[in-house]
Amino acid sequence: MTTLPTPSATDADAAGMTEIADMVETRGDAAAGGAATPSDVLAVLDAAATVTVLCHVHPDADTIGSGLALGLVLERRGVPVQVSFAEPAALPESMRTLPGTHLLAPPAQVRDGVDVVVTVDCGSAGRLGALADRLAGAGTTVVIDHHRSNTRFGRWNLVDESAESTTAVLARLFDHWGVEIDRDLAHCLYAGLVTDTGSFRWVRPGTHLLAERLLDTGIDGAAIARRLLDTHPFGWLPMLSAVLGSATLVPGAAGGRGLVYAVIRRRDVGDLRSEEIESVVDIVRTTSEAEIAAVLKESVNGTWSVSLRSKSDIDVSAVAARLGGGGHHAAAGYTAETSAETVVADLVDALG
Ligand code: AMP
Ligand code: MN
Ligand code: MN
Repeated sequence: MTTLPTPSATDADAAGMTEIADMVETRGDAAAGGAATPSDVLAVLDAAATVTVLCHVHPDADTIGSGLALGLVLERRGVPVQVSFAEPAALPESMRTLPGTHLLAPPAQVRDGVDVVVTVDCGSAGRLGALADRLAGAGTTVVIDHHRSNTRFGRWNLVDESAESTTAVLARLFDHWGVEIDRDLAHCLYAGLVTDTGSFRWVRPGTHLLAERLLDTGIDGAAIARRLLDTHPFGWLPMLSAVLGSATLVPGAAGGRGLVYAVIRRRDVGDLRSEEIESVVDIVRTTSEAEIAAVLKESVNGTWSVSLRSKSDIDVSAVAARLGGGGHHAAAGYTAETSAETVVADLVDALG
């Protein structure tokens, strides 16, 4: 195995490769390493002969855009690289035209024992699903992310909580690396930027400068946004009708600021692909009488995946963390295994 840099400022400093692997395995989400600088991460990647890039389960355009962009850069540098996510089995239709999908490997074919595993847009090891076991087999691990709730579960953790998207963290990393952001990379990076900013609603100084740089490569920003955000099969409309028709307002929740929630059961989804339900929360959260919005999404195995949104005051990443999940200040999520009624009752409790 290639000799890789090790963090200098952690108690793991003297650990050999096997011990590092043990540590990742036994500590799970406990801080396995410390904060990393872009230079640290580049030193690790430059020394790697083999890399695996892992995206989060039920991937969105930020994790896939990040994974494919990093994969493409490594491939161009001659490094054998696989990009993967644990579930579902297929890449969401809306992301299939992103450059770099030839790098995607089914989870069962993801090599164990590579030099470096990089996770992108994952706040915790649990977000890797069944691929979390690849962390222990790697020579070292790098976490590149922007989640407030990030548990720093990698050996090297490049986490910028102020970044709009993980693709924005990567754009800055590519600049450090001297990588030219061409049209293909820009397409991947823009996909994460336009979706994680809610079509440039949640922005900060610099967001539009990055967008401008990416657009200047010649990508079709309108087409990318339309495909990722504004394209649904006809069956999406009756699903929305059924789900929104039973939305519930709880004005007294969250100290009187209000909760609005909707429940998506399997029967509402019918033949629709699971990714078609992800946008429901964007409609529910517009309710003016509620500071908090929640959408309960029933999984095929009967558990609930809950999306939480807040308008401004309340940090839903803290609420989600209390319920076993994580996320950002205004957008977070968790999973629950109880009945829908209990999920709602527990949420109201957690909101205080
Ligand atoms: P979603 O509602 O699925 O769009 O997710 C909103 C945010 O919460 C995203 O940043 C996710 O990464 C995070 N998130 C969603 N579900 C979970 C979970 N089960 N555990 C940790 N974070 C989650
Ligand atoms: Mn994501
Ligand atoms: Mn993200």
